[in-house]
Amino acid sequence: MTWMCDICGYIYDGEDFLKEPEDYVCPLCDHGKEYFHERDMEVEIGLAANQLIASK
Ligand SMILES: [Zn+2]
Repeated sequence: MTWMCDICGYIYDGEDFLKEPEDYVCPLCDHGKEYFHERDMEVEIGLAANQLIASK
């Protein structure tokens, strides 16, 4: 499972993100956990596929 910072795109790889303290901040942009969202690979593949179709 990976988590991505919405602000700078930093990727946190691993389920340990859930165990990080509440005051964890992104190492790149110093924004808190609330700015991170879980990345679902299947969703990403689906989005990429949709973009491919839309670009035709
Ligand atoms: Zn960030």
